[in-house]
Amino acid sequence: MTNPNHKTPSFSREMPFEYGKLEQIAPGVRRIVCENPGPFTFKGTNLYVVGEGDVAAIDPGPAGGAQVDLLLDALRQTGERVAHIILTHCHADHSGAAAALKKRTGAPTYGMARKIDDPVIGKRGPSGGDFVIPVAFDVPLHHGDTVRDASFELHAVHTPGHAPDHLCFRLADGDILFSGDTVMGWNTSVVAPPEGNMGDYLRSLDMLIGRNDAVYFPAHGGPVHEPQRFVKALIFHRRWRELEVLEALRAGATRIGDMVPRIYNGLEPALVPAAALSVFATLEHLVEKQLVAATRPGSLDMAQEFALLA
Ligand SMILES: [Zn+2]
Repeated sequence: MTNPNHKTPSFSREMPFEYGKLEQIAPGVRRIVCENPGPFTFKGTNLYVVGEGDVAAIDPGPAGGAQVDLLLDALRQTGERVAHIILTHCHADHSGAAAALKKRTGAPTYGMARKIDDPVIGKRGPSGGDFVIPVAFDVPLHHGDTVRDASFELHAVHTPGHAPDHLCFRLADGDILFSGDTVMGWNTSVVAPPEGNMGDYLRSLDMLIGRNDAVYFPAHGGPVHEPQRFVKALIFHRRWRELEVLEALRAGATRIGDMVPRIYNGLEPALVPAAALSVFATLEHLVEKQLVAATRPGSLDMAQEFALLA
């Protein structure tokens, strides 16, 4: 069951940039890379600036970073201002600085509202610490909504899976999709329950394949060209993981802890908890498809034993 030629999409870790510098990367699109590198954030969060004059800032980045000051200094020099603050989702590395940016600019915030009684908020995430920092959006967005100003128009595309509130944004006239954490060129997205849902994620990827976006600008890493081809490879990669989980079950590995070293051999220890959650997400999806069952009734958990149904 190992066919290395088909296991991994063609990830790229090439990304020329300079921390804290507002750089033009496409017509009407500039970017600052926040200085929060890590195993889940790659070089850091990309803060995108869309339009000219009265601009939109997509994903202000983590709390306490220098990017808010650097962004406002750069815009002051060109006589521009942040008029809209847009969030792809409320994970801390994207939304942490939203409150500070709003305070400094008075700009309204836009994004998909999370449920008031969200069970995930406050729980510890795979990367440690509280990973959801909710924003009480001034303008709650839904799939298909538009954010516009004189120099740009952005359309919200709901892509749950990595996070339930995840939105991508299509720049009208630019063929550009800001893909957030749903599709990134440097690595697969973390899909970790309860925040992530593999069934939702695969449905979001299927939906993206049917669109005609020419390039993706993700929240971490460089642009993704030929994105539909890349998304197909991501789907293939997830299906391959499903087969590996089924194979592990067939071989007698019935718990997540036994499956992870079989499936991901030689994994960096820091990434093992995230891999375990990813296997859990795959199992949850296999349960949804009625190919696998948990041996103990009730809601699924990490310590459970699983069995093949088919
Ligand atoms: Zn995220």
